[in-house]
Amino acid sequence: MTSSFTASPLDNLAANIGITPSADTPATDAPADKPAGPTFESLGLSADIVSALTAAGYESPTPVQQRAIPAALAGRDLLVSSPTGSGKTAAFMLPAIEKFAQLQKLEAQQPRAPRDPNAARGRRPQPIARPKLLVLTPTRELAMQVSTAATTYGKHLRRLRTVSILGGVAYGQQLMLLAKNPEILVATPGRLIDHLERGRIDLSELNMLVLDEADRMLDMGFIEDIETIVDATPASRQTLLFSATIDSKITSLTGRLLKDPERIEIVQKLEAKSNIAQTVHYVDDRDHKDRLLDHLLRGEGLDQAIVFTATKSDADLIANRLADAGFESAALHGDLPQGARNRTIRALRERRVRVLVATDVAARGIDIPGITHVFNYDLPKFAEDYVHRIGRTGRAGRSGTAVSLVHYAEMGALKRIERFVRAPLPVNVVAGFEPRKAPPKGGFGGGRGRPGGNGGGRRFGGNGGGSSSGRGYGPGNAGGYGNKSNAGSREGGYRDGGGYRGGNSDGGYRGGNSDGGYRGGNREGGYGSRDGYSARRNDGPRAPRRGS
Ligand code: AMP
Repeated sequence: MTSSFTASPLDNLAANIGITPSADTPATDAPADKPAGPTFESLGLSADIVSALTAAGYESPTPVQQRAIPAALAGRDLLVSSPTGSGKTAAFMLPAIEKFAQLQKLEAQQPRAPRDPNAARGRRPQPIARPKLLVLTPTRELAMQVSTAATTYGKHLRRLRTVSILGGVAYGQQLMLLAKNPEILVATPGRLIDHLERGRIDLSELNMLVLDEADRMLDMGFIEDIETIVDATPASRQTLLFSATIDSKITSLTGRLLKDPERIEIVQKLEAKSNIAQTVHYVDDRDHKDRLLDHLLRGEGLDQAIVFTATKSDADLIANRLADAGFESAALHGDLPQGARNRTIRALRERRVRVLVATDVAARGIDIPGITHVFNYDLPKFAEDYVHRIGRTGRAGRSGTAVSLVHYAEMGALKRIERFVRAPLPVNVVAGFEPRKAPPKGGFGGGRGRPGGNGGGRRFGGNGGGSSSGRGYGPGNAGGYGNKSNAGSREGGYRDGGGYRGGNSDGGYRGGNSDGGYRGGNREGGYGSRDGYSARRNDGPRAPRRGS
């Protein structure tokens, strides 16, 4: 299976927002710089793998790779906090593949056992896959990226088959792939459980288990599935757990999963060397937000954009509205079938889609250099997601612009983001789109009122962003913000000829959207009432597993 995300690795790496090593990390700050520190060889990787990396444009290991590869090769369990874009996939995939390479070298030295001529006769063996490496990921997109990485890094190995087990892919097709007994399985938890229950996959010979974006999997309610999967693996396995953040939820999981793990923390320092201009625009209501968004989307210097929404239904609604307004727009979210998602990403890559309206989970990892702008139509529920979102722009060493359209009810979320990125976000105002209501006194954003904020606003073809102060804001918020009803599974919106039906059309498995993990609830967004922002339920077919 191939991934839709195939930008060159150098492009991707150059797109890092700015990764700085934590105190105990070797001081290699710019991953793609000429090697001054460790090389892939010195970390213990075989020539075959290093040559595959060279062909892929990797010159030197990133900080997380420098730490994780030798520790994993030494057999340690790992607990790694490292953001997307830091090279974390290679950090677990390279040592895993190195182990396969070493095994193959050993096997090649052994005399071959003569074949049993009766072995294949008579009964047809039940096709059961017995992988050695299992990578669990929260989303299909991520799983496909991981599979692609495995194929890239292992391309010189004699035999290394990788199969992705994902929801939304025909079951029969997966059985055929599993029948080849792949060494590597990359799976989303829901669909993997189905295959385990049907006896198609046996994890008893597993050597290594990787949990990628474990925090995300927990947020999506996969804890029980993870436990079921882990119970099916041998205690002797090596376990690598990767997570953007290590909080108490993760720690309780790691206590059960990891044996004396080496802890690796790669800190993402956003404020210091960000190539992404970030601004906040306050909005009075949804109408104000829509008008401002349309205006900014028509701004000079905008090539392609991603608009992030809190809910899947909003992604559909806004994509449709923008299409009606003349934008080449499409929606991307977890309710769309895999084929439609792939077509949308392809259309974005080929610039047939200029404005992608997406939810957090669906847009994770999108790596397209043409994305000049990211808009937060709604602020993300989790502050880390802000970093993931804005990291979709400023790729391949370019600069990018991230604009958050913030309603006063989202102040709590904005504060959390500013705390997380350790910097106030400058406030910008476009002439003709001034908010009626002033942000609260002592509000957020040290740049508030500074003409042009950090300069991001200037590119939008307005008047360069005037001062936001002294505007004589009107008294009330007449917008009825948050009163929008859930439009549900509205159809259409996809402009690439692929078409899709809204709603949970790729579900049907385990009674719902089994691998997306949304479990029927509004897993992709909606603010809790703590922000006072409308929760806008997007109720699906299954009750949420956890009380979200
Ligand atoms: P990840 O954090 O795994 O999503 O990786 C981000 C991007 O960086 C991917 O496109 C990788 O192919 C690329 N990458 C990972 N490690 C390196 C490296 N050492 N040198 C150059 N590119 C890399």
